[in-house]
Amino acid sequence: MRKTSASSIRAAAELLRAGGLVVFPTETVYGLGARAFDPAAVRRIFRVKERPADNPLIVHVADEKQLARVVRRVPPLARRLMNAFWPGPLTLILEKAPDVPPAVTAGQRTVAVRMPDHPAALSLLRTLGEPIAAPSANRSGRPSPTTAAHALKDLRGRVAVILDGGPCRNGLESAIVDARGRRPVLLRPGAITAAAITNRAGIPVAAPGRDSPAAPGARRRHYAPSCRVILVAPALLRRGRVTGLGLPGSGLVHRSPWKGRRPAFARRLRGAVAAYARGLFSALRDAESAGASTLFVETVPDRGVGRAVMDRLRRAALLLESPDGRTRGLGLG
Ligand code: AMP
Ligand code: MG
Repeated sequence: MRKTSASSIRAAAELLRAGGLVVFPTETVYGLGARAFDPAAVRRIFRVKERPADNPLIVHVADEKQLARVVRRVPPLARRLMNAFWPGPLTLILEKAPDVPPAVTAGQRTVAVRMPDHPAALSLLRTLGEPIAAPSANRSGRPSPTTAAHALKDLRGRVAVILDGGPCRNGLESAIVDARGRRPVLLRPGAITAAAITNRAGIPVAAPGRDSPAAPGARRRHYAPSCRVILVAPALLRRGRVTGLGLPGSGLVHRSPWKGRRPAFARRLRGAVAAYARGLFSALRDAESAGASTLFVETVPDRGVGRAVMDRLRRAALLLESPDGRTRGLGLG
């Protein structure tokens, strides 16, 4: 992890105080932050990212005092989850405190809040002394940035300060859990798995029901590079059954060995699924920069961290969009 200097943190906090935006590293992905209680600055986040106004932001806090400014109350379930996972990549949906600007929550009565597990993010929050609202620091719909260079590519000329903390440890966004009821409801799979929540907090995780709030960001095409993404199962790669790999403009992101012709761009992410998750967004962006027009991406088993990986991949891939805005992957995997 690259260390961020105290003077750059101070300058970033100063800019936030003056109503500016700052890109900062977290353990999940890079965030584009504004003072959560500055509605004009928060609205600027939406403009800079070209983010739909109905997609609320996650508020980041460093301590109990900052948390108390954001939420109306902390129910026992939420306290248990915080004790188990904060600081860390678990975002909780709670009732918002009255003063949280509607721009942050897209007009909802709930707010998404988390305590990041990254020294630069925590230091920025403490130096500012206030909560920071921050979505991922990419243009809306693009793969989340896992390095400062990714954020710069998407937001060049639109933000004055990017704090560089090196590559993100998880490389995948936080899990989002509705923590208002008796059981945690998983609204978006992420870097913390449902099994880990069940084990460490000792409460089984529920799937969203009809009354659960939607994580609006989880409905859309998202995480997509500019090339066409096609999902392929490992068995097809191993058997050399992916025709098209040798064509000009083809690319491959994979874990398994494959048979057949070499694509113009290939990135192998070896090891556990967590390593695949860590390198995935970077690989999508590198394939795009290398000029790939069709990118084959290997699927992983849809469980554990793989569930979050597959969630992102399905939405990065070719899609059929149904009229209710829900998306369906067209992958081969
Ligand atoms: P990002 O930080 O870019 O991953 O975006 C934040 C995610 O949190 C989006 O998917 C939002 O839809 C989700 N989110 C933020 N606030 C809420 C909320 N009050 N209820 C449900 N989901 C939320
Ligand atoms: Mg995002």
